[in-house]
Amino acid sequence: MEQDTAARRELAGVVVDHLRGLAASGPATGAGLLDIRYAVATDGGLVRPSNQDAVHAGTGLLAVADGFGTRGAPASGAVIDSLRSLVADARTSAGHLLNLLHDAVLAANDAIATLTPSGATDVVAGSTLTAMVWTDRELALVHIGDSRAYLLREGEMFQITHDHTYVQAMVDEGRLTAAEATSHPQRALLLRALDGRSTPVPDVRLHEALPGDRYLLCSDGLSAVLSAEQIHRTTAAAADPETAVARLVALVRDAGAPDNVSCVVADVAPRR
Ligand code: MG
Repeated sequence: MEQDTAARRELAGVVVDHLRGLAASGPATGAGLLDIRYAVATDGGLVRPSNQDAVHAGTGLLAVADGFGTRGAPASGAVIDSLRSLVADARTSAGHLLNLLHDAVLAANDAIATLTPSGATDVVAGSTLTAMVWTDRELALVHIGDSRAYLLREGEMFQITHDHTYVQAMVDEGRLTAAEATSHPQRALLLRALDGRSTPVPDVRLHEALPGDRYLLCSDGLSAVLSAEQIHRTTAAAADPETAVARLVALVRDAGAPDNVSCVVADVAPRR
């Protein structure tokens, strides 16, 4: 866990430095001056008996939650509900967005705890969460688990979240290559998630969006099936978010869709 945390800090620092560098050369535009156009898609896939992903795109919130356990669907639903309440509160609260996000994640974890019968030894209900939240003043990214956020900026695609998985920790330690991680038998093992038990430790940070940015949030049913190159090419080629989400899900289904697949694509434009 400590190594995972250290690696995460390092990566977050690199990403923040990179984004600062780009921001310094780009237009000085704050989140309050931006409009976001988005589209969302979720699909149960071709193998799983039900869809335990939950996804939301709306004013102030883009979010993907991937539920697991026998009550995974209500778990991911509860996570999205907690975030939606936060966004409603954030517009009227003087509190700092990052603190509000931490509170929302704790509330989500408490909601998941209520789905688990007392005395249960297995995880009955759990979920990942990857979300972008913005108010008129700030935009923030909150992330726990192995769902992902990507940024397409000036033709380059960056994964801006760090997977909280066993295999990613092994890669960070140099004990596994990224290629080996994609086929590792324990690639789905999460080091961090919302499970209603332990106090969750999400990655939470402010983010500077720029006009022209395109964001992709997705569950592992997309990122574990498509290659980084496919994700980049498909996201970049689409004329609009609706086309992007439709093509991404179609590609996953063509590849057999072994898991539930969900994605949100959002374009940032100057406010008119
Ligand atoms: Mg999944």
